[in-house]
Amino acid sequence: MNHNCDFLIIGGGIVGLTIAHQLVERKISKNIIIIDKEDSLGCHSSGRNSGVLHAGIYYEPNSVKAKVCVSGAKRLRKWAIEKGIQVKNCGKLIIPQKSHLDSQLDILYARGKENGAVINFVDSKDIEKLAPDAKITTGRGLWSPNTAVIDSLSVIKSLQKDLESKGIKIINSVKDWKLDKKTSQIFLNKGVHIKYGYLINSAGLQADKIAHEFDVGFDYKIIPFKGIYWKLRKNCSININLNLYPVPDLNVPFLGVHFTPCANNNSIIIGPTAIPALGRENYKLLENIEYKNSIDDFAFLAKQYFLNLDGFRKYVNEQAFLGIPSFFLKSAQDLIPNLKRNQIERSNKVGIRAQLFNLRSNKIVKDFLCLKGEKSLHIISAISPAFTASFSFADLIIDNYLLKDI
Ligand SMILES: Cc1cc2nc3c(=O)[nH]c(=O)nc-3n(C[C@H](O)[C@H](O)[C@H](O)COP(=O)(O)OP(=O)(O)OC[C@H]3O[C@@H](n4cnc5c(N)ncnc54)[C@H](O)[C@@H]3O)c2cc1C
Repeated sequence: MNHNCDFLIIGGGIVGLTIAHQLVERKISKNIIIIDKEDSLGCHSSGRNSGVLHAGIYYEPNSVKAKVCVSGAKRLRKWAIEKGIQVKNCGKLIIPQKSHLDSQLDILYARGKENGAVINFVDSKDIEKLAPDAKITTGRGLWSPNTAVIDSLSVIKSLQKDLESKGIKIINSVKDWKLDKKTSQIFLNKGVHIKYGYLINSAGLQADKIAHEFDVGFDYKIIPFKGIYWKLRKNCSININLNLYPVPDLNVPFLGVHFTPCANNNSIIIGPTAIPALGRENYKLLENIEYKNSIDDFAFLAKQYFLNLDGFRKYVNEQAFLGIPSFFLKSAQDLIPNLKRNQIERSNKVGIRAQLFNLRSNKIVKDFLCLKGEKSLHIISAISPAFTASFSFADLIIDNYLLKDI
């Protein structure tokens, strides 16, 4: 069977699904096909993240992230409530884990205010009330009442159902396809082909490779960073029911090990780490290792380290070895000093960040990034908070690219 569509979306993660949702909602087209290589949706970042609806605090004002995070969070929350998906409104406390980090709170406060986030300073008494076991380092912290938590896989499943009920075709298990740019078609196995008017590449961890097939983005490469989670053991005496975050290293887009309540139950996850992975889908220790690629990635990261580009040495010293349990525990103890090794256990949750680097400038790409190709758009950086921001990010993509290109 062959298909003809206005928009072909490669990748049914949150980015692809919300673009399709907004194309339908805004009556731009209903003739949309989404293909995904996995047998079900949500197998990668969109179904494996922390589920935090971020409040818009961290991002440099005027960045794309800053423009879409606050409104995106409001929209996703509203959409989820309408669909009956539970949103846990537990807020977030950010505390400096070392006293020299106290001044960073002022930067975060200023950024948050400028980005439209609700945020205020709290003192020792407030911190003690909000999170009795949290470390009080300098007597100051930041409180974000609007940070919430949601089950990300429920969002993906519900969006899929919604889109399918509106006639959008979602084709799973498309492991292999070939592109013919000249005729604007892709060929699936068994002789099936899809002719498209416009192609949207929202393939997450693989998006740079697909962009390269369209002859765009050769200066960029995704390097995978593994996010391992631990969790508090059941009945452990640590008292926490909100998001507890450290002051992050603002040179890199990783927020540091933090505590997050799960949306659907009473468990508390700790993490994720951000350690270089041995493959883009290397979720388990020896699974999907990409030997050649990993050597290239590690050589590139070693260069970052030695040249100390973007303060990369600090990242390596503080975060690259958090896969080692004792280092991980120490990092968690920076927030909760009384936490003991026997109070935590490994969670089976693992996610992999699709972190983009600019190979020409050797810079880490901190913002979202879309590149235009022939009859196509390539979303090659959609890292956190792309889940939170998805509905607003989708509208921005439609307004700034799709409506101008079609
Ligand atoms: C550990 C971790 C924690 C995070 N925590 C948060 C958080 O708390 N809050 C937040 O807002 N964000 C968070 N994020 C970020 C967020 O999850 C991502 O920004 C978002 O999910 C990216 O969505 P996506 O659609 O671009 O990618 P994905 O979800 O990876 O979707 C891409 C899809 O493309 C498909 N695909 C890939 N290649 C092909 C191909 N060749 N052909 C067909 N299909 C293909 C894949 O199967 C996949 O389904 C976190 C991310 C990680 C890794």
